[in-house]
Amino acid sequence: MPDRLGAPREKPLFERLVIVGFGLIGSSIARAARQLNLARAIVAVDRDEAVLARVRELGLADESTADAAAAASEADGVILCVPVGVCGAVAQAMAPMLRAGCIVSDVGSVKGSVVAQVMPHLPEGVAFVPAHPVAGTEHSGPDAGFATLFHNRWCILTPPEGTDPDAVEHVQAFWSAMGSNVEVMTPQHHDLVLAITSHVPHLIAYNIVGTAADLETVTQSEVIKFSAGGFRDFTRIAASDPTMWRDIFLHNKDAVLEMLGRLNEDIALLARAIRWGEGDKLHDLFTRTRAIRRGIISLGQETPEPDFGRRKDTTPQ
Ligand code: NAP
Repeated sequence: MPDRLGAPREKPLFERLVIVGFGLIGSSIARAARQLNLARAIVAVDRDEAVLARVRELGLADESTADAAAAASEADGVILCVPVGVCGAVAQAMAPMLRAGCIVSDVGSVKGSVVAQVMPHLPEGVAFVPAHPVAGTEHSGPDAGFATLFHNRWCILTPPEGTDPDAVEHVQAFWSAMGSNVEVMTPQHHDLVLAITSHVPHLIAYNIVGTAADLETVTQSEVIKFSAGGFRDFTRIAASDPTMWRDIFLHNKDAVLEMLGRLNEDIALLARAIRWGEGDKLHDLFTRTRAIRRGIISLGQETPEPDFGRRKDTTPQ
């Protein structure tokens, strides 16, 4: 993972970019956009006054306000970086102030629900280009962000049918400038793919850490003391933001339940192989999964270091 971005653009992509929700993702976008001259002015919106005060201290935006509607006037770009459950309400509040030609986007980890929530509120002439940067950490808030978060990570765009292709291209250019590899797919396909690659793994982590905490025969101190044996990585994932992840599961219900059903079937087969001493079956699966891990590393989406190279990634900038 590189520790610096490319050269700043000569001409910004947005004149007035409003970022609503200035946590990990919103503040990372602001940092990158500032360094790369992607917006002439950045307006920070957050409902939390303490977050806005921190944005001012860190100098992350040109203006900051809790009033999303007021911020929207004269904006040519808006990015919703709030939990997926409130995207519709924020879009509704901003809608009367949005002017034709403005591009609205988001970063939500679920796409079908966000499209359904946001689209009905947008006035004629305003394009919606949903985006999901497949990048993040278990940390939240404006101090957790850093400018290179999206570098060499995928960003998935899910424009609804009929979206202005120029708007899609504009958002694509924005994410490419921040170093992301951009792919376009339907919201439904996105939700299915992310259910198995991200949402169900998080559910498993939340579950296993919860189960360990509830065990009566193994003490809490033993769980912490011996956590290096695989459990530690689950605790990192299970430390992710509770509000964000509650919303993800409630808004990607169908795909998550479909993938959980398949997982339960496969776990039953593994339990059977263990019970009947079918070592070959276990060995075959573990060989296949090891190859998948190596494939992820060779594609540059992960590093082979014991801490997966994350320590330097999470250094705030
Ligand atoms: P975060 O660090 O918790 O930041 C979210 C910010 O939005 C908080 O300051 C929150 O304030 C504020 N907010 C909530 N509701 C609001 C509203 N109605 N109006 C204005 N501000 C509001 O969250 P994040 O990790 O950046 O995640 C933001 C979005 O990115 C989510 O949709 C998530 O699915 C997506 N995403 C996250 C990751 C990741 O790894 N974290 C990766 C990819 C995409 P309060 O603290 O007062 O609630």
